[in-house]
Amino acid sequence: MSDIRDKVVIITGASSGIGEAVAKALASEGAKVVVGARRTERLETLVRDINASGGLAAARALDVTNLEDMQSFADFAEKEFGAVDVIVNNAGVMPLSPLASLKVDEWNRMIDVNIRGVLHGIAAVIPGMTVRGSGHVINVASIGAHAVTPTAAVYCATKYAVWAISDGLRQENDKIRVTTISPGVVESELADSISDERGRNEMKEFRRIAIKPDAIARAIVYAVSQPADVDVSEIIVRPTASPF
Ligand code: NDP
Repeated sequence: MSDIRDKVVIITGASSGIGEAVAKALASEGAKVVVGARRTERLETLVRDINASGGLAAARALDVTNLEDMQSFADFAEKEFGAVDVIVNNAGVMPLSPLASLKVDEWNRMIDVNIRGVLHGIAAVIPGMTVRGSGHVINVASIGAHAVTPTAAVYCATKYAVWAISDGLRQENDKIRVTTISPGVVESELADSISDERGRNEMKEFRRIAIKPDAIARAIVYAVSQPADVDVSEIIVRPTASPF
């Protein structure tokens, strides 16, 4: 896939699940990947694996809720490998609960990570991409950006926001590509943060049909591999058995 080789790609939330799979898939196509998250020991293992199999990767600690941290992450990538061609805003949390549980701290955490984190990622790369007249912003939303379910009101709200931010960014730019990836249920650690018992039990049942993170990584590889004048604006990837 010639349009991926040597591209500099930064990926948030790459210490597990979808982000980790995306890093491996893009590196195996010849991209230079920089991975960020808070669990740095996991990132170091990922970088070792990628480099050992002939890829090129580097890691840096990242908390997406902090704008300066995000800027340092993008600056680090530029110093290591050159100007950032692609950002994958993937970091996210999903502590589901009914609104009546008033888990306000968890609502705020979803807003901080899932919305502010994506905006911080955009802020860190858009100035450089605008000057260069090229770049690709990939935001990981969810099928929760298309429909709301009980216990997921705030999570879905954050993903509707990601969808809106992505489409607004796309409309405002004629040289920067913008892609929204909306996964259905995927095997990962995402549901581990659910503190509400009802939400956790419902999710356990729902996640039986989960597909592998590599299914999402392949969709991202497809979007990045297109020529510069082709914007894959949105892909929904869900389990065949998913009713939602
Ligand atoms: P995981 O929980 O496996 O991965 C989430 C990643 O986000 C981790 O690497 C975690 O790293 C990172 N993260 C969380 N908070 C922060 C933070 N403050 N700063 C930096 N990184 C952070 O779940 P998934 O791989 O499933 O999730 C990836 C994305 O896919 C999310 O946006 C999620 O909403 C979306 N999604 C997932 C679906 C699924 O069924 N799995 C379905 C639809 C969408 P660390 O804790 O080390 O910081």
